[in-house]
Amino acid sequence: MKNNRKKSEKSNYIIGLAGNPNVGKSTVFNALTGLRQHTGNWPGKTVTNARGTYCYQENNYLLVDIPGTYSLVAHSEEEEVAREFIESGNYHALIVVCDATSLQRNLNLVFQILEITRRVVVCVNLMDEAKRKHIMVDLGELSHLLGVPVVATSANREEGLLELMKTVSQTVTTTNPDEVIQANSQKSAEELVKKAREIANKVTTYPKIRHNQKEEKLDRILTNKWTGIPIMLCLLATIFWLTLVGANYPSQLLSTWFYRLEECLRSTALWLNCPATICDFLFGGVLRTVGQIVSVMLPPMAIFFILFTLLEDLGYLPRVAFNLDQVFQKCHACGKQALTMCMGFGCNAVGVTGARIIDSKRERLLAILTNSLVPCNGKFPTLLAIISVFFAQNKPSYIGALLLTGLVLLGIVMTFLVSWVLSKTLLRGESSFFILELPPYRKPMVGKIIVRSFIDRTLFVLGRAVTVAVPAGAILWMLSNIFINDHSLLYYLGSLLNPVGILLGLDGFILIAFILGLPANEIVLPIILMAYTGMGSLTEAESFASLQEILVQNGWTNLTAVCTLLFSMFHWPCATTLLTVKKETGSLKWTFLTALIPTMIGIVLCISVKFLFLIL
Ligand code: GDP
Repeated sequence: MKNNRKKSEKSNYIIGLAGNPNVGKSTVFNALTGLRQHTGNWPGKTVTNARGTYCYQENNYLLVDIPGTYSLVAHSEEEEVAREFIESGNYHALIVVCDATSLQRNLNLVFQILEITRRVVVCVNLMDEAKRKHIMVDLGELSHLLGVPVVATSANREEGLLELMKTVSQTVTTTNPDEVIQANSQKSAEELVKKAREIANKVTTYPKIRHNQKEEKLDRILTNKWTGIPIMLCLLATIFWLTLVGANYPSQLLSTWFYRLEECLRSTALWLNCPATICDFLFGGVLRTVGQIVSVMLPPMAIFFILFTLLEDLGYLPRVAFNLDQVFQKCHACGKQALTMCMGFGCNAVGVTGARIIDSKRERLLAILTNSLVPCNGKFPTLLAIISVFFAQNKPSYIGALLLTGLVLLGIVMTFLVSWVLSKTLLRGESSFFILELPPYRKPMVGKIIVRSFIDRTLFVLGRAVTVAVPAGAILWMLSNIFINDHSLLYYLGSLLNPVGILLGLDGFILIAFILGLPANEIVLPIILMAYTGMGSLTEAESFASLQEILVQNGWTNLTAVCTLLFSMFHWPCATTLLTVKKETGSLKWTFLTALIPTMIGIVLCISVKFLFLIL
């Protein structure tokens, strides 16, 4: 697909891309346009019309990815968006992507669309999956019965796409652009379903032995009442363990490289007669903050996202939603909130945007308001370092992973609790009924996952963190380098907040670090260290032992460690998440509440733990 990605000012043809959820629409879209829409093995992740262009034989095609829907009877936001687009007729052709392994369900939508327009190319995707399951589809017969062209593809291997482009180009030139749109279907839905069944039966041959028996067996274990949740927790703990163990060495390596880079740049700048203060500001302030963030965040994030994307591609995430559905229902929330919660582990801003998959506004708000109760990627380095130093040093590495899993569980329990309280107070209502489709398990393409999770997720989050780290580094440097009467501004601010900090089992500096960490959670621990060591720039603790030494010298006890862990888990979300909430809800009130709820929980937990420690 090398020569089709030339972009041009003007698109000659507009092509809509429709289909059921999870049939590979985004994969087709990405392969044709060279863009990177998010793909993932679960229904309902495309909720807006993404656009991209491709070029075929000198003509430009604007491809519009319509949200995946099972029907055009508008029940949800996605269905409404899809229906509006299809009925508008503002396109030259529609590609309707179908899943070759479950043609009957897919043909329901095809028939509904054919009632509206005949400018259709049916793309039967996932042909490789069908072949693997020994399902055969007679495409010629299908095309004959539908009366529109049919093309077979395996989009993730980029197979059949040239044929698809060719067929689309023929369709746009041969069908009548002024075709009358019959918005009101002449046939009842029942009739269309019957027709879809008949045709699917006619053109599909299934193997004698059912191929998804293995999947059914697996599902019986993974979604079982007794085994589902324990397996899920074990998987989570394993992911954390692999992340912890795997990230250590590359983190150290990166940090050494950044240190060398800083030295090198500093000496070059000094040699070029750059004033020492400016050098210190640029390299000890800005560059060191960036270096800290990259070396602390990049390795765990890269490992975590790869493992997470692997589970997503396998089709495991909807099983998580299925397992947690009952609990969410009991909290009067929607089972799909489990999916947005999972996304929150990566990045709360992504989780908040992901809440668009929830149809009811009330339930969507529940998902948004509670998303930051699970720790995002930016919080993991702080949690990890404190756990390692105070509770897991010189102990086997799984102890740290188990403690971290415990904290994550606390976040999940809080999500349930807050959802329940909100649905009894501010967001009263019953949970709506929804059908969650358990998609088939798919063999993940490991190479693609690594590239995709690295580029789409790791570099995206890292890029954003670095963008905020540059100004944050500059401000920090100034706060700790502007002196009034022998003390830096940072020192005065810390002292001012000390009484509040002490009340929470923390101290003024820790609190100031959380406040200054608003742009990105990952800089909290470096700020604490910087404030303690009185150095003008972010300090790097070379090892966990020296980190412990610095903290203990500054009065940290196990209580301080526990309270810092709790406050790390529960305080205001980062600025990016808050901005995303404002954008998604359009309301300052909900944005404010998103910050207030976790902060209040953090304050209550810290004070309770502190007094419990005192009593004991
Ligand atoms: P959408 O919801 O329709 O946009 O579906 P996606 O493009 O996100 O694809 C859903 C899942 O199917 C992803 O895990 C893709 O990697 C996978 N996928 C897409 N096309 C194919 C295909 O032709 N063959 C196989 N085996 N997997 C595919």
